[in-house]
Amino acid sequence: MAEAPLINPDESVRPRSLDDFIGQDELRANLRVYLAAARERGKALDHTLFYGNPGLGKTTLAQIMASELGVNIVCTSGPVLERSGDLAAILTNLGRHDLLFVDEIHRMPIAVEEVLYPALEDFKLDLVIGQGPAARTVKIDLEPFTLVGATTRMGLISSPLRDRFGIVTRLEYYSPEDLARIVERSARILGVEISPDGAEEIGMRSRGTPRIANRLLRRVRDFALVNGDGRVTREESVAALSRMDVDELGLDQMDRRLLEVLIDNYAGGPVGLKTLAAACSEEVRTIEDIYEPYLIQIGLLQRTPRGRMATVKARRHLGRETL
Ligand code: ADP
Repeated sequence: MAEAPLINPDESVRPRSLDDFIGQDELRANLRVYLAAARERGKALDHTLFYGNPGLGKTTLAQIMASELGVNIVCTSGPVLERSGDLAAILTNLGRHDLLFVDEIHRMPIAVEEVLYPALEDFKLDLVIGQGPAARTVKIDLEPFTLVGATTRMGLISSPLRDRFGIVTRLEYYSPEDLARIVERSARILGVEISPDGAEEIGMRSRGTPRIANRLLRRVRDFALVNGDGRVTREESVAALSRMDVDELGLDQMDRRLLEVLIDNYAGGPVGLKTLAAACSEEVRTIEDIYEPYLIQIGLLQRTPRGRMATVKARRHLGRETL
């Protein structure tokens, strides 16, 4: 069965309700309480900040919150809000209790952030009109709304902004079991037949991340369709994932390259992040945001004050001699 062409292939499998959202049990239970309480009180939900690595479900949760509250959601991102006028235009168009989702909120310019503070506190906007001596401030009343911020870098959020969020929640990496359930759910939606051990294998190699699990499922499905009868089994998954250079820990070429550079060129480290990035021809931010957190999480990489170090486990995984 052909998949309908979509701009973002994730959209078709994105959970629409808290019941569909798999894993993150504590977060989900708490969110249910906050949503129920906001509905009960007839007030806008407290401003909420989600932090965690890319692909863990921050955008999905924001959309679910809007739909569970029966309000509209407007989505934007920190780097898009270049001028305070951009933010003012969005805020003045929000309806009562609507959600404003700002992805990568740590990349919002400081001037824009300052416009946001009174909006968050009193639902008021202080706009400066004109320039020089003729400039004056006008106060505009806004509808009560909820800001939902998402960030991969909690440390880069200024404390005045952080303090204005009533709910601050971290999304953790998913267990292989939860990821297998996510793969099974997505397979059902995509009309792919998959065996439980096929889903397990994909779950184990998805670096704790639902977005990756869904991506791997789509690629394994392609291999199963072309090389087999379309049914995804463990053997099919293992063969397809090896062809894609995704190993049994879910590491791809770049992850392995990073560790190889550390071990082979720098005797395992410590090496400064900038040096490592240059040696791997990768951007510092990409290494920090995407590669490093998972390598640290599974104990292959260590972050020390003097730089990054490969662990004994990393040497073993790459088949390097250990002392
Ligand atoms: P983020 O905003 O944190 O980068 P997204 O919310 O865009 O991540 O999630 C990426 C994709 O992963 C979504 O399209 C969705 O299909 C899937 N996904 C994320 N979290 C879950 C979950 N808990 N259960 C099922 N699918 C999920």
